[in-house]
Amino acid sequence: MTLSDIKALDSAHFLGVFGERCPVCFTRGEGATLYDQDGKAYTDLFAGIAVNALGYNHPAVTGALVAQAQTGILHTSNLYYVAPQAELAALLCEHTFADRVFFSNSGAEANEGAMKLARKYFYAQGSARYKIISADHSFHGRTLATVAATGHDYYQAPYRPLLPQGLTQVPYNDLDALRAAIDEETAAVLLEPMQGEGGVTPASPDYLAAVRALCDELGILLILDEVQTGVCRTGSLYCYEQYGVVPDILTSAKGLGCGFPIGAVLASEKVASAIAPGDHGSTFGGNTLACAVSLSAMRYMIGHDFSAVAREKGAHLMAALKTIRSDKIVEVRGMGMLIGVQLTQDCSAAALSRELLARGFVAGTAAGNVLRLAPPLVITEAEMDAFAAALTDALK
Ligand SMILES: *Cc1c(COP(=O)(O)O)cnc(C)c1O
Repeated sequence: MTLSDIKALDSAHFLGVFGERCPVCFTRGEGATLYDQDGKAYTDLFAGIAVNALGYNHPAVTGALVAQAQTGILHTSNLYYVAPQAELAALLCEHTFADRVFFSNSGAEANEGAMKLARKYFYAQGSARYKIISADHSFHGRTLATVAATGHDYYQAPYRPLLPQGLTQVPYNDLDALRAAIDEETAAVLLEPMQGEGGVTPASPDYLAAVRALCDELGILLILDEVQTGVCRTGSLYCYEQYGVVPDILTSAKGLGCGFPIGAVLASEKVASAIAPGDHGSTFGGNTLACAVSLSAMRYMIGHDFSAVAREKGAHLMAALKTIRSDKIVEVRGMGMLIGVQLTQDCSAAALSRELLARGFVAGTAAGNVLRLAPPLVITEAEMDAFAAALTDALK
């Protein structure tokens, strides 16, 4: 099929939620390089929206996937024990604050699980706390509950009245606003340590520490959504480590399966102990194939200190971007290998990313006219330098 054949089928039959897509269909990948059906090569600096942390055709991913598939078992259901699920849960507990883990199929589903856990924690105590406060410009997913937690009119407007009740937003990085919004029915605060979709905006260290202290003072829970910032991306296995702020519940997805769909809810024993059989579940969540791939990828990334890799390569990319002299760039910000280039209003991030695509580089965008970079962590410094040169050129 040619690209125009694919486009014709897509525009005739696929639900119009993604509109006109970037004009390319990738058919093969190796390392940080993608190839389209004409064999044209592209250097990837977006990793399928911060998902493909090990790039393309990495043996730790492809090998585990093929080996598991060849056993004949992709899925058995959670009625039975699932070995890689138990091992992956243990691995995550060993390397994080968490005592217990639940697996879902996506980031939104992980956030749904986190919100249910928070509610159940207070329900089990006979407490009236059920409300969850998140931040303006946040992104937590596309299900009804996660849309209600996503502080963006663009995502919420078509789905009002929002479900469930009790989800509100306050300005990000504003402690007074948060304090004022908390009442005796508040169960949890849900935040991204760095907002990804919202514009690659880190929480200020003082703010996140103060939110933790406030939650402790009032006996409410802190949920960190690390769906985008997690899995070595920002320079530590999870971003909270760099803030020295430990959540009660953390959600992970995107990089966790390095391209295979999987999400996770991580919880402290304090919270997890409120959960009883039947409180939550999933048919597909944590299935054998997803966990086998994720387990192999996570072992590889932890074993090869990919947090350090993300710090070093991120510093290199950040430095390369900061040397670009262009009056279109307002700021370059981010942590590790999640970097945003804030552009002036007259320079569209979407148009710039298409310009880069035409030059053989894949970059993303974020809200607020930001060019968003979340490269596969296996990208080379030479590839990043070539990108910086292409960006310099494209900005002219
Ligand atoms: C992508 C994202 C989600 C949603 O994940 P899905 O897998 O698309 O459901 C939730 N939270 C954050 C911070 C994200 O970046």
